[in-house]
Amino acid sequence: MKVLVLNSGSSSIKFKLLQMPLEKVICYGMVERIGDEDALMCYKKDTINIQKTISIKKHSDGLNLIARYLVHPEKGAIKNPQEIYAVGHRVVHGGDSFAETTLITDAVKKQIKNYSVLALLHNPPNLEGIEISEKLFPKAKQVAIFDTAFHQTMPIKARKYAIPNKFYTEDDIQVYGFHGTSHKYVSEKAIEYLGMDTSKIISIHLGNGCSITALVNGQSVDHSLGFAPSNGLIMGSRSGDIDHAIIFHMVHSLGYSLEEVKEVLNKESGMLGLTGFNDLRDIQSKAEKGNKDCQLALDMNAYRIKKYIGAYTAAMNGLDALIFTAGIGENSCLIRRLACLDMDYLGIELDLVKNEKKSSLLREINTDCSKVKILVIPTNEELEIAKQVYKLLS
Ligand code: AMP
Repeated sequence: MKVLVLNSGSSSIKFKLLQMPLEKVICYGMVERIGDEDALMCYKKDTINIQKTISIKKHSDGLNLIARYLVHPEKGAIKNPQEIYAVGHRVVHGGDSFAETTLITDAVKKQIKNYSVLALLHNPPNLEGIEISEKLFPKAKQVAIFDTAFHQTMPIKARKYAIPNKFYTEDDIQVYGFHGTSHKYVSEKAIEYLGMDTSKIISIHLGNGCSITALVNGQSVDHSLGFAPSNGLIMGSRSGDIDHAIIFHMVHSLGYSLEEVKEVLNKESGMLGLTGFNDLRDIQSKAEKGNKDCQLALDMNAYRIKKYIGAYTAAMNGLDALIFTAGIGENSCLIRRLACLDMDYLGIELDLVKNEKKSSLLREINTDCSKVKILVIPTNEELEIAKQVYKLLS
């Protein structure tokens, strides 16, 4: 079964074609900076490695380009689009409606659209990806994999907000949790690596979006992103935790509209708001050159992670392992060092030399006497999605 995995984000589309159940990657790549004149297309298959700058105005152009590469007579991976049995789509918000991976129907698309108000940056491009894919691969089964589904195991005391009960029972306002595909994938890898029958793990996903999950025996018991993917850690352009009184102050005293506040908190805050830069690599290099805003933003970022580690260790009454994953978690030894600094009281002791070593494999970066294992585990959301698609359809 050939499964094409699509992760259609606000300005990028990542894709991977896998042969299942062999879990063999046939080809993969991405289109980045959609909307720009100098968008970037990457395509890799065996020894073929194409990277080119090209104008890609909209998502449909990006997906059309990907489809053309897939069937290209020399560089392609398939002869015609009908060879693709299923397309697995990452969908960020599935609310209360989807606890499982689901075959996409018109009703499912309507629900995904309804949840767009809660995942402003994600559900609209996810849905656009689905609709274009239906046209490009009309014979393929279209499947949605929801980031929220993994967190359905959270106990009610962690799910509910302390607002009148009606909002929970009648309006479904609660913590949903996100990045479920990634947290599921890396925590399963960690459990396999640790070889423990019971485990208490904190999984820290640090990418453009950031989140942290407490897991007991592999099940999510608490999570930092809440009703929408906006709470918790400091992200690329999202604030994470703030006092809601600030929103009322911005509207009532500073004259912002609610729409403007939403834009500020989702698209102009986080590391971008603190430094003027979104990408952590830029922020690290400016900080090294003495940029005070960048230095402070890195400290704030790590401090927020530490607070959540402390809270979740207390909530679980213990901790066996910390996992760092995603673009920043896997690559930034600086953020890992700052987040693990002075945590020996909790049994967390980072080995500074192991932390600096680069590798794309699962690795342990704690000292030999650290009570808590500190693991760097490359996430593989595409493989997790393909596994779930295969499970649903076979
Ligand atoms: P993701 O959403 O998982 O693709 O992560 C994207 C983020 O990872 C980017 O915004 C970068 O800030 C960060 N990133 C990627 N590579 C590195 C690196 N080598 N060092 C520091 N941060 C990185």
